[in-house]
Amino acid sequence: MTSIAIIGAGLSGLTAAKILEGYANITIFEKSRGVSGRMSTRRSEAYSFDHGAQYFKVKSDEFKEFITPMILDGTIKTWDARLVEFKNRQLTERQKWKQSDPYYVGVPGMNSIAKHLAKDLSVCLNVCVKTLKKNNNKWQLKDGSDKPLGEYDWVISTIPPEQALKVLPESIPFVEKISDFKMKSCFALMLGFKKILPLEFDAAVVHGEDISWISVDNSKPGRNKNFSLLVHSTNQWADEHFEDNREQLIELLRNQTSKVINCDLNNATHQVIHGWRYANIEKRSGETHYLDNNQNIAVCGDWFIQGRVESAFISGFEMATNLLNSLNLGEKNGE
Ligand SMILES: Cc1cc2nc3c(=O)[nH]c(=O)nc-3n(C[C@H](O)[C@H](O)[C@H](O)COP(=O)(O)OP(=O)(O)OC[C@H]3O[C@@H](n4cnc5c(N)ncnc54)[C@H](O)[C@@H]3O)c2cc1C
Repeated sequence: MTSIAIIGAGLSGLTAAKILEGYANITIFEKSRGVSGRMSTRRSEAYSFDHGAQYFKVKSDEFKEFITPMILDGTIKTWDARLVEFKNRQLTERQKWKQSDPYYVGVPGMNSIAKHLAKDLSVCLNVCVKTLKKNNNKWQLKDGSDKPLGEYDWVISTIPPEQALKVLPESIPFVEKISDFKMKSCFALMLGFKKILPLEFDAAVVHGEDISWISVDNSKPGRNKNFSLLVHSTNQWADEHFEDNREQLIELLRNQTSKVINCDLNNATHQVIHGWRYANIEKRSGETHYLDNNQNIAVCGDWFIQGRVESAFISGFEMATNLLNSLNLGEKNGE
């Protein structure tokens, strides 16, 4: 069977693995201690936070079909949040998210989706792929201490462009094009409270501030009941402050959030910040992935399309479908 190494266990990598599963031997390498990538959930003893993707929408039939089994078994549910907007620190708009255009979340955390997809896949966690080298028509992968990670017929990279440029050999024809993609940063401030705050919303889009989003994370279905607030900074503010002292950043974002929602947040018992260096990319059109049939290598990820969960799916799905066709792999194993 054709052997394929996939670098990254976010949604695009796991989607590709699910499509190729049974047609090829798949090994996934993930540098973190869990799967999910930017659809992760951070848990402490008392609180849990989706500190990356907050929810997702479904437009394409392919994505709808892909997630339907997870809707049926309860891994994915709708989040019927009370949504508001803040402009000039005034609450300007309220709407109940529509049943006809659902906002989906993983249950009990956003990372439940990736965990579900990874269940029967071979995923090597805590392994950061550092180099790729071609030897006798096979790709040799190594980690940071030069430890060999095996030899594969194909490699699929699903990691953000800035990181991919450090790993992929310059000899691959599409590598030069990857330097056109620039991702932006984002900070996620996680605040946990002993008491429920009397807020009039579950989620708020914020305009004209250094913060862009506030959500009551425990208002999502199946969450821990302890009151938790998740705040995202704007991309621009994160890019400007990425190297700053984290304690100061917590204070700045927390104080600004207090002012926007007119509620003192100093008494949060849990205050943690996470910096997403490569958080998202603006919408773009063009190819959804790159695939090179001569060198047996492909790249995909949300960054080909937009910083959205569905974009990660589409990129992984189209790349894997294209690869299946070009490899002409025939019958699925066991069918
Ligand atoms: C703060 C934030 C808020 C967001 N909000 C939303 C939202 O509300 N709605 C929405 O639809 N989308 C949202 N998104 C976007 C959404 O999370 C992404 O589009 C999607 O999760 C990207 O999936 P991916 O598989 O393309 O990449 P990733 O999830 O980034 O997966 C790449 C994986 O590769 C791993 N990796 C990197 N380098 C290596 C290496 N060298 N070796 C091994 N593994 C490696 C990483 O650890 C990661 O797990 C948000 C993203 C962020 C950061």
